[in-house]
Amino acid sequence: MNELLNKCQLCPRNCQVNRNNKEKGFCKMDNNLLVARASLHLWEEPIISGEKGSGTVFFSGCNLKCVYCQNYQISHNNFGKKITIKRLSEIFLELQEKGANNINLVTPTHFVPQIIEALKIAKNNGLTIPIVYNSSGYESIDTIKLLNGYIDIYLPDFKYFDNKYALKYSKCTNYLENITSSLREMIKQVGTPKFNEDGLLIKGVIVRHMILPGLLSDSKKVIKYLIDNYNNDIFISIMNQYTPTNNLKDYQEINRLITQDEYDELINYAIDLGIKNGFMQEGETQKTSFIPEFDNTGV
Ligand code: SF4
Repeated sequence: MNELLNKCQLCPRNCQVNRNNKEKGFCKMDNNLLVARASLHLWEEPIISGEKGSGTVFFSGCNLKCVYCQNYQISHNNFGKKITIKRLSEIFLELQEKGANNINLVTPTHFVPQIIEALKIAKNNGLTIPIVYNSSGYESIDTIKLLNGYIDIYLPDFKYFDNKYALKYSKCTNYLENITSSLREMIKQVGTPKFNEDGLLIKGVIVRHMILPGLLSDSKKVIKYLIDNYNNDIFISIMNQYTPTNNLKDYQEINRLITQDEYDELINYAIDLGIKNGFMQEGETQKTSFIPEFDNTGV
């Protein structure tokens, strides 16, 4: 499967670089696996985290690189430790051993071939907990099809409805076309939400949308699209945790927190449209202290 890296088209950036030959495309990753943290994480949606935590594995590099990224240190600056596919499979098993409710692959898109190989090894060695694919949503449908049978829970972002914002803040084209077609494939693969006896999600799709400063009307379009098309099929997680970072000098219009009024308006809009399965955030979510420490823990 690593031959897919010979002319990489794993994501819509379609760089066509030979990553096996140490060339790097937009994600800035060659064929070496780089991971920045692997640990139990309690701050996902409650049906993912449960009481014991989700077994998060944070991959370095990113194929989207939003200017406001909360994980800048690993997504833009590529912090992380080089590991083998075998070591990745051991990390999955170690997280299961620690009691993780699932394996949560964070920003995995550019490493899909290696992740599939690691999952095969780990499953042969006793990995049984659900696998979560936690991505930016900027996916190519062919890569999502490769994951069929390996992923139990898809957890994509749906960041923008208007592609002009995707171009401005994530420097990508056709975001809407890619997220909508890959989302359809994700739902086709894993079906409607299913739970275990503890109420934790074992199959299904949760779509995350984080409201950005000044983009309330675009957020409403995202929420309306999801409710109009998939209200019975998915969970919709509406997030207010946007926290400005130090990298926004050219983007002053988003250099602030979301107000409670903005968030309430979006939540009430979703309720008025009849949202069936949703999550909202409460309390002090807008703190950099909620960003995990990237120090190679567990790697
Ligand atoms: S995974 Fe990386 S190299 Fe491959 S197409 Fe996407 S951004 Fe380019």
